[in-house]
Formats: sequence, structure tokens, C-alpha cells
Amino acid sequence: MDKTTTLQEIKDLVAEFVDERNWSQFHSPKNLSMSIAIEAAELMELFQWSGAGEPLDEQQTDKLNEELADVVIYCLSLANATGMDLSTTVRNKVAKNAGKYPVEKYLGRYK
Ligand SMILES: [Mg+2]
Repeated sequence: MDKTTTLQEIKDLVAEFVDERNWSQFHSPKNLSMSIAIEAAELMELFQWSGAGEPLDEQQTDKLNEELADVVIYCLSLANATGMDLSTTVRNKVAKNAGKYPVEKYLGRYK
């Protein structure tokens, strides 16, 4: 469960899966960044030709969960491959975004 699992535990789980298969040799930042985009495309494919806000059925929800997991797994693999401290990096980027998009200027607006 998200509330009881640390990000490091999930990073380690992904690293163990990769190490058991000796796949780190294929995990260059280039390959992993491409894999993130490919899996993101598979995620978007679920919504191709559907209307905005159209509810997902159970099978589509299962597929959504799997594709989002694929995206996250490759993101974690890229963080592992580059030695990124993901928690610090995400916190820093959210802080940077907050400075770029102050609430008083962007509340309910995107431009
Ligand atoms: Mg996939």
C-alpha cells in the first residue's frame, strides 16, 4: 500500500527485477527515456477515440493500472540507473513549479 511502502522499497523492487535478469546493461538513460515515452503512448492509447470524461469499464481500468505501472517502473529504473534521489528531485521540481506558477496568479488558470 502507498501509505506504508517507501519509494526506496519500490525502487529496490524494480532494481532487483532488473538485476536478476542482468538487464542493467540495456538501461541507458536514452533507452529508459524512450521506454517511458513508449509506455506513456500505450497509456494514451486507452483513451484514443473516447470522449473526454467517458467512464472506464473494469477491463479498461485494469489496463490503465498496468500501463501507468509500466510508466512508473521505467521512471524508477531511470532514477536507479542515474543514481537520482527521486524524492529530493520531485520536491525541488514542485518548489520550482510553485515559483513559476504562483497560486495568486494561476488559481484555476493555466496561462
Ligand atoms: Mg505497457
